[in-house]
Amino acid sequence: MAYVSETDPPNYCGYGTVRPEHVQIKYSDDCWNSRTDIDKELLTFHELGHAVLGRVHSNTQLSNGDHQSIMYMNPFGLYNESTLDKKAYYLDELFDMTTPEPQWAHVDRPNRVEILKDSVAAVNAWKFGTTGLIDHAGVVSHEAFVSAGHSLSIQANAAGSGISFWRYDLSPGNVTIGSALTLTVKVMTKDVTGPGLDFELQGFDAQDTNVFYVYSKKITGTQDFKEYTIDLHYFPRDVSVVSIFLLMDGRSTGTAYIDDISLVNKY
Ligand SMILES: [Zn+2]
Repeated sequence: MAYVSETDPPNYCGYGTVRPEHVQIKYSDDCWNSRTDIDKELLTFHELGHAVLGRVHSNTQLSNGDHQSIMYMNPFGLYNESTLDKKAYYLDELFDMTTPEPQWAHVDRPNRVEILKDSVAAVNAWKFGTTGLIDHAGVVSHEAFVSAGHSLSIQANAAGSGISFWRYDLSPGNVTIGSALTLTVKVMTKDVTGPGLDFELQGFDAQDTNVFYVYSKKITGTQDFKEYTIDLHYFPRDVSVVSIFLLMDGRSTGTAYIDDISLVNKY
């Protein structure tokens, strides 16, 4: 293996050949110097795949849309620190192309465990907060609801800046790495103008660093209660807290009511 300032032929980050059994790695910032240790490992495994195992490039995808092989043309980011558990599969596949699809790539997840089912009672665990200059109020409302006589409402009295949100934190408990999460909420809106409301699922590690973030499209206008879902397809490692946000952009006006919030773990 050799570090080179330019590969021969040029313009590759790495170049592996079987005869002679040889790997060139370009030590530019893009290809190597500024890369994480994991990306350096991925590039090295990829080139050794060419040089030692005689493998060619693969463009095939797994069911969930992830690349099937480290032999994908650009292996950077195939796994990272929080998805390191994918590595075992990719190494197996590198040596044996008939390796079956890993469970974390399955789209059909037959097992379901409900981790949160909240029909929103008068007293509940949701916390309301705001940032920026904003005239939004968070009210546990009995004006509109689907069940249990109440919903979480956000009343945006005037357009401002920042955000307002209802937040619910939970411990991931028995959620396994690589499993999926589905968040379902029912939302009713009244005269919501501006960017509107969305809902989000976020994960944080012990240092409070964000490790995943999925969000819905924005909801605006006037509508009766309607169900929305968002999915996290791969639950990463090192998650200390899972947070659900029901969030109104500060530039919005109008009222939103949110009810029947559930979080389901699928595997
Ligand atoms: Zn290659």
